[in-house]
Amino acid sequence: MPELPEVETTLRGISPHISGKTIADTAIRQPKLRWPVPPTLAAALQGQTVLECSRRAKYLLIRFNTGLLLIHLGMSGSLRIFTAGDERIALPGKHDHIDIAFTDGTLLRYHDPRRFGAVLWFAGAAEHHPLLAALGPEPLSAAFNAAYLYEKLHKQKRAVKPALMDNAVVVGVGNIYANESLFAAGISPKRAANQVTRKECARLVETIQAVLQRAIATGGSTLRDFVNSDGQSGYFQQEYNVYGRHNQPCPQCGQLIHKETIGQRGTFYCRHCQK
Ligand SMILES: [Zn+2]
Repeated sequence: MPELPEVETTLRGISPHISGKTIADTAIRQPKLRWPVPPTLAAALQGQTVLECSRRAKYLLIRFNTGLLLIHLGMSGSLRIFTAGDERIALPGKHDHIDIAFTDGTLLRYHDPRRFGAVLWFAGAAEHHPLLAALGPEPLSAAFNAAYLYEKLHKQKRAVKPALMDNAVVVGVGNIYANESLFAAGISPKRAANQVTRKECARLVETIQAVLQRAIATGGSTLRDFVNSDGQSGYFQQEYNVYGRHNQPCPQCGQLIHKETIGQRGTFYCRHCQK
């Protein structure tokens, strides 16, 4: 599943190829995504120029004069750019559901085998969209700091891991990054959120930012894959300290990594290093 670093990498991969360009035509071959693609989308996009590409949580936001295109990659979605003349422009595959063609011949293609993603139009500002209005701060922004995190966590009795994965607390800390940042901070995922100290909140903010930034840096090496390539995977593989390492030695102490389900998600941690 694309996590925040993959979405950020997608933004950096497509943005230089579509910013400032004007849409000639939009083809919607399969409108049944997580929510239906609006039937008016092609008409809304026709002749519009891309003013800005940005990201909020795991939503890609493409802004035009008259509104906003929201794209969510869901479980298996990806975006690819094809430049003018590429023969694959005329040969969409089975899971290539939407094509946005620009007047210079560039094509932006949305591919999503499992169809849990979303492509939506909103004639307003991003902060007013119902899917975005209630979101917590971006993890890499100044608004996500130790004082803020402590303020949020100290009111909650649930375990710290599901609290970190709650989009109302902070966006974009998916299962992988919650596991990895709690390990780096030495905090057990089972600890009650209200038992995390101010000092530990400062450490958690640092480790969350570090693991996300490291992942985004890894994604940087895949930027060329967004252009004129077959969009099969697009998700980068990384080395993890605890995630997916059940019964393998902890990189810090050598004891075996423990796995259990917390908040309905597979949770990996070292019972010796994380208290
Ligand atoms: Zn350990």
